Amino acid sequence: DHPTYGRIDGPIVIIGFGSIGKGTLPLIQRHFDYDEGAISVIEPRDTEAGFLAEQGIPHKQIKVTRENYKQVLSEAFPEGKGFCVNLSVDISSLDMMKHCRELGALYIDTVAEPWEGFYFETQNNAERTNYALRQAVRDEAAANPGGPTAVNCCGANPGMVSWFVKDALLTLARDTGADATAPTDRAGWARLMQSLGVKGVHIAERDTQARDKPRPRDVFVNTWSVEGFIAEGFQPAELGWGTHEKWFPDNGHRHESGCQAAIWIERPGAITRVHTWCPTPGPQFGFLVTHNEAISISDYYTVGEGAEPEFRPTCHYAYHPCDDAVLSLHEMFGSGRQQKVHEILDVDEIVTGIDELGVLLYGHAKNALWFGSRLSNQETKALAPWQNATGLQVTSAVLAGMVWALENPNAGIVEADEMDHARCLEVQRPYLGPVEAHYTDWTPLQDRWEHFPEDIDESDPWQFRNVLAT
Ligand code: NAD
Repeated sequence: DHPTYGRIDGPIVIIGFGSIGKGTLPLIQRHFDYDEGAISVIEPRDTEAGFLAEQGIPHKQIKVTRENYKQVLSEAFPEGKGFCVNLSVDISSLDMMKHCRELGALYIDTVAEPWEGFYFETQNNAERTNYALRQAVRDEAAANPGGPTAVNCCGANPGMVSWFVKDALLTLARDTGADATAPTDRAGWARLMQSLGVKGVHIAERDTQARDKPRPRDVFVNTWSVEGFIAEGFQPAELGWGTHEKWFPDNGHRHESGCQAAIWIERPGAITRVHTWCPTPGPQFGFLVTHNEAISISDYYTVGEGAEPEFRPTCHYAYHPCDDAVLSLHEMFGSGRQQKVHEILDVDEIVTGIDELGVLLYGHAKNALWFGSRLSNQETKALAPWQNATGLQVTSAVLAGMVWALENPNAGIVEADEMDHARCLEVQRPYLGPVEAHYTDWTPLQDRWEHFPEDIDESDPWQFRNVLAT
């Protein structure tokens, strides 16, 4: 009784078979028509080799590198058709999508990933930003518009949260008596956000998934890629910088070129805390981990352009990962070294918890609106195999992105903000558990400890100065 969303002609190649690759496989099998034997996996590790053999999925056990990627892709897609599903780490998204487009294959990934070495060997922090990685993809999209569709950064976040922003805006318009007709272009969406008085957006997430045993010392535990999280956590904190901001961080930096929608801060994102809000905990700390969507959302909703537009929202991630990951970060930054053992919480060992992932639109007539998915691990088990709640929020966005690409095969290089959010959420929603809208009167000025003076602006609650924890 699962809908089939279309036929994929040619090979379907999943690159990287970690937590997200493994969770995406059953959704592809469930929702597309394809030739028998069309699906294969490229994955250098042998940990899932037995599983893949049992499933009858051919497994090419190689590492994709800067040196071999063109040959690997040319062999994988020899006939100018097929779908490359890149769910790896350490492979340049930009190089992969460019070559897939030359070969005539559709392409999707969940992050603007660089080649191995970039995150830790690049010395200049401005060059280590997601701004730089995203801008390179945007420049390629602008230089070579149209042609085979390559969907970049289409997971939960970046990805699904951009579709949530649009649904949240329409909800807010309806609830405040404004015109709630969905705009048909980028400028219309930006004007809608501006007219509703939204000052900014937190990607506000609380992951409460936990297993029954305490986190062992010297082990980094997370609910998705540990490598991916460490890499982004060590990048500088970054955020889309809105026009309502009156203050600028001492250690903040702007960009001279590109869309200029974001700034970066001279500090790793995963130890930079912000005040934020989610439905389950209410007020909480999140980490200002850099993410593509912080830049893309601020860019997409800009009225005007450049460094001083008429309107632009502030936007950033405010991430409270699962408790074991918080302890893992604490240990890693405190000791100055990465744990060698990495564990991703498995769906069957998790005994409690949900991943509550949404967008908090703030500063408007109803103060703040959180809109998002509150998917439990328990519910996940009934919806799809081989993944936890975090995984399913990501893999179902990959599914939605693949459907959109099949239905729009010549759209060129796109990111989630540019896709039809209603269609994508229609495909994804059956996998998201409760998708809810919650208004709150909380602001970052509330629920603070009053015994110590803080550098805050009491006249204007939603200034980033008040959101950033000192
Ligand atoms: P993971 O660490 O579990 O798996 C990554 C896999 O890639 C591993 O199996 C690894 O062996 C493989 N790999 C590494 N180098 C490779 C190479 N050179 N060639 C081929 N394969 C290689 O990670 P995951 O949790 O499955 O996440 C996969 C990707 O998705 C990561 O880039 C992660 O950042 C991203 N992600 C995005 C979102 C989102 O919401 N947008 C969420 C979760 C993960």
